[in-house]
Amino acid sequence: MSIKENIDDIMKRIESTCKKAGRNPKDITVIAVSKTVESDRAKEAVEEGVNNLGENRVQELIKKYEELKDIDVNWHMIGHLQKNKVKYIIDKTVLIHSVESLGLAEEINKRAKKNNLIANVLIELNIGEEESKFGIKEEEVYDFITSMEQFENIKVLGLMTVAPFCENPEDVRWVFKKMKNIYDKVSTMSLKNTEMKYLSMGMTNDFEIAIEEGSNIIRVGTAIFGARKYKEEE
Ligand SMILES: *Cc1c(COP(=O)(O)O)cnc(C)c1O
Repeated sequence: MSIKENIDDIMKRIESTCKKAGRNPKDITVIAVSKTVESDRAKEAVEEGVNNLGENRVQELIKKYEELKDIDVNWHMIGHLQKNKVKYIIDKTVLIHSVESLGLAEEINKRAKKNNLIANVLIELNIGEEESKFGIKEEEVYDFITSMEQFENIKVLGLMTVAPFCENPEDVRWVFKKMKNIYDKVSTMSLKNTEMKYLSMGMTNDFEIAIEEGSNIIRVGTAIFGARKYKEEE
């Protein structure tokens, strides 16, 4: 199937899921995860109306950012971000989904200040508490978000998670439920630079379940571009 057909199919699935869940499909943002995909194919997705692209590696993001400079794209950093690389992407991304340590937040704040901008970020949670995954644990998230108040050049706009991979996506519904619960709780905390707007969860294998449970940003790679030829670095 072509990228256009894939996107059409995803949009139909979002529509029918929203209908079932009593939600508005317009409230769901699709990020086309273009990691390992060449710029010209990423561009195709943008031309089909998905103008949010997600990358998990800084080098790759910068390369495609340059190659696609002439088209209107919002870049999202969705993968693990090393502190020493923040400076390369701080002025190129609309949203950093993967803030999961105080040190990283500190660096983002510093670089944002230098660039005279406010960095929009999500806090990444590790709900499954898998060793292999990055993210804040549930019991630490409230203190962590409170500690973001010290960073004047950071705006926390929501939460993100990568659910454990399960053959049957129903098996991770509890993860999305838990995320929504935490999201709602944080929404009631009145924190200086936090505004719960985005719940970034759901990928190729589980985005319908994530939407049913309240996600409003889904990050879809394989279902748009096909299987990745080589494994990306985490
Ligand atoms: C790769 C990746 C995705 C997309 O995964 P697919 O299963 O191909 O849709 C989403 N989020 C993150 C953080 C990723 O690294």
